Amino acid sequence: MAIYQRVALIGLGLIASSMAHAIRQFGLADHIAGHAKSPETRVIAKEIGLCDSIHATAAEAVMGADLVVLAVPVGAMAAIAAEIGPHLRPGTTVTDVGSVKQAVIDAVGPKMLDGVHFIPGHPIAGTEHSGPRSGFATLFRNRWWLLTPLPGADPVPVARLRGFCEAMGANVGEMEAAHHDLVLAVTSHVPHLIAYTMVGVADDLSRVTDSEVVRYSAAGFRDFTRIAASDPTMWRDVFLTNKEATLEILGRFTEELFALQRAIRTGDGQLLFDYFTHTRAIRRGIIEAGQDTAAPDFGRAKAEG
Ligand code: NAP
Repeated sequence: MAIYQRVALIGLGLIASSMAHAIRQFGLADHIAGHAKSPETRVIAKEIGLCDSIHATAAEAVMGADLVVLAVPVGAMAAIAAEIGPHLRPGTTVTDVGSVKQAVIDAVGPKMLDGVHFIPGHPIAGTEHSGPRSGFATLFRNRWWLLTPLPGADPVPVARLRGFCEAMGANVGEMEAAHHDLVLAVTSHVPHLIAYTMVGVADDLSRVTDSEVVRYSAAGFRDFTRIAASDPTMWRDVFLTNKEATLEILGRFTEELFALQRAIRTGDGQLLFDYFTHTRAIRRGIIEAGQDTAAPDFGRAKAEG
């Protein structure tokens, strides 16, 4: 059953296109309106029938919407919010899917007029692909979708948005924005930075040729390259806007790395063994929580085959 009459998706990349497919599949809205910045993306969206209507401006797309989803890179949120703010009718819910929450709240919050319910959100689901063709309806299935409602938020629109995310298959949690940014710095942002760095290092090593890196890439490096293939605009914005938490976790990471480096130099096998035993238990916890599969190579070879 439709939860919203008219949903406006602003930005038509991986997340918005996955939402469009899920909304259609589960019948969660009567009309999906879409907008993306470039004419190319709008043409593709029309071609593949992603939305019921595609609009050249965000202001036009949000007209009459009772749910507006900001699905653009974090750095683009402020300009979009300024553009759509005056065109939102009272009672509209505005949410976003940005990977950082406090910066989005600071950018979007002031542009929302009284009577508009701004409820920031973040689906913890993604792939390294981007663009309007990359979405699929099951992206959110059994993944967490964190909402970070502002203090004093009206619980009725929050419950409605929660129901909408759950209907797309997600588990919904609520969290304070600053805490969200710290948690995600640990679980996503710093790991991405490390992957980008590792792939950069391999590329820099003149004693190992490019073809050797590609030919002999073992599971560890292959997984780094997959993560490091993620969208550069999105990730630039994540680090610029989640600066404090990222730097804090990076500091901790560097200390641990030095401890391991020292253990290797001094031949402290016990320290290495204990450390790796502890990290293995964390991996087991993730599998037990249903957030990954225990299949070798993450089950990917089977899924792709
Ligand atoms: P994406 O596939 O790279 O697509 C971004 C979309 O935003 C494109 O349609 C792009 O339009 C549009 N866009 C960019 N700037 C715009 C502007 N100024 N006005 C209008 N449209 C604009 O992005 P995504 O992966 O879906 O990410 C979208 C948001 O979700 C980001 O905030 C990201 O942090 C968050 N997120 C991503 C993931 C992930 O794994 N990818 C996971 C969770 C949350 P054009 O194509 O015309 O340039």
